[in-house]
Amino acid sequence: MSGATWSTRPQRICVLGATGSVGVSTLDVISRHPDKYEVFALSGYSRLSDLGNLCERHRPRYAVVPDYESQERLQRRLVEVSLETTVLAGPDSLDFVASHQEVDTVVAAIVGSVGLSSTLAAVRAGKKILLANKEALVMSGALFMKAASESRAIIMPIDSEHNAIFQCMPPGYHDNLNAVGVRRIILTASGGPFRKVPSEMLRSVTADQACAHPTWSMGKKISVDSATLMNKGLEIIEACWLFNAPPQMVDVVIHPQSIVHSLVDYVDGSMLAHLGNPDMKVPISHALAWPQRVDSGVKALDLVNMARLEFEPPDEKRFPCLRLAREAAVAGGSAPIILNAANEAAVKAFLVGDMGFMQIPELIESVLNSLEGLSISTLESVMEIDASARREASHWLRRGRSVRH
Ligand code: NDP
Ligand code: MG
Repeated sequence: MSGATWSTRPQRICVLGATGSVGVSTLDVISRHPDKYEVFALSGYSRLSDLGNLCERHRPRYAVVPDYESQERLQRRLVEVSLETTVLAGPDSLDFVASHQEVDTVVAAIVGSVGLSSTLAAVRAGKKILLANKEALVMSGALFMKAASESRAIIMPIDSEHNAIFQCMPPGYHDNLNAVGVRRIILTASGGPFRKVPSEMLRSVTADQACAHPTWSMGKKISVDSATLMNKGLEIIEACWLFNAPPQMVDVVIHPQSIVHSLVDYVDGSMLAHLGNPDMKVPISHALAWPQRVDSGVKALDLVNMARLEFEPPDEKRFPCLRLAREAAVAGGSAPIILNAANEAAVKAFLVGDMGFMQIPELIESVLNSLEGLSISTLESVMEIDASARREASHWLRRGRSVRH
């Protein structure tokens, strides 16, 4: 991001996944600074009416929806209110707006593997990317980081932990963490809604209970991932790619208050932490304005009245997803792709009541064991492995259904 762009005109921003939790928080920050940021494109999927409202408020050049029927409906509504926004349809249109030459910054906030193509399009076009869509990096880390270095794209993590680590890292960290004195990266995890729930009771918890996160308000998929601790597992892999760290250098600690967002441990015994209220507007504002700072609208921490800060080790027996993700991080190659695809399939099935909470790690482990580990060199091979893991997950679910009936 050049200083010239900052000083001469507002940054033009494309928000992919604008109707979601991260998208809405981003638009809230943007609307506080009309002199600095301008919305160029917004995308939505199922929440068309919300997308229409966002278009009326932010007046983007483009809006992207999934299909032609939604395109017609939204375009009609926007014409009625004399808005000049052009509505586009389909995944190719996401790639089009993400790589558009007039865009400076792309907020990658689509959930899951469906966000991979547009996030990569933005990377290849050399944009500044505010990365929320961790699944894209988990699936295609090597290709993603190579494309970023070739195109000189700037990847700004807005996952709160990774944004915290970014803020605690010294200059030059990406070339060699050891050379800049980093000993460990420590990711904090709230522990989710089932932190204290015994194993036997975890079998019968519901999707609504899993989605009731104690400290963060988020979309359903990441809420379930937080409840299983798969979110932290995905974040280990995310941290390895973002900070050029081997998995052995990334630790996890449970911190129920979600005030310390992550830490960096240095060889001299210093430990740098990032603290803040648990609100995505904090990392989003940081990444949008970096290297400057802007008001996020989030109030300052009240240190004197703050509750105690507690830390405890994660329990990988009750939450096997964390172990599975760590093993996939160490294995590398196709393992993180399989892990991610099996997890997406499992979470989807859990959310619609097709299987129990503790079957999520069972399904993932079974799919990981049934597919051969491969090395990855192209996006096509990423997509093939993703598809075969999803096929394997469907077989597992069908077998489970036939046993139950
Ligand atoms: P939400 O479910 O709230 O939002 C997801 C967004 O993706 C929505 O705009 C949704 O559209 C869109 N979307 C869903 N399916 C498709 C599809 N097939 N094609 C195109 N767009 C689609 O999720 P979150 O905002 O919570 O999370 C988004 C990403 O950010 C995830 O990768 C998550 O892991 C990551 N993240 C989220 C955090 C949070 O606090 N929420 C924190 C850190 C990371 P629609 O709603 O219109 O259907
Ligand atoms: Mg996070």
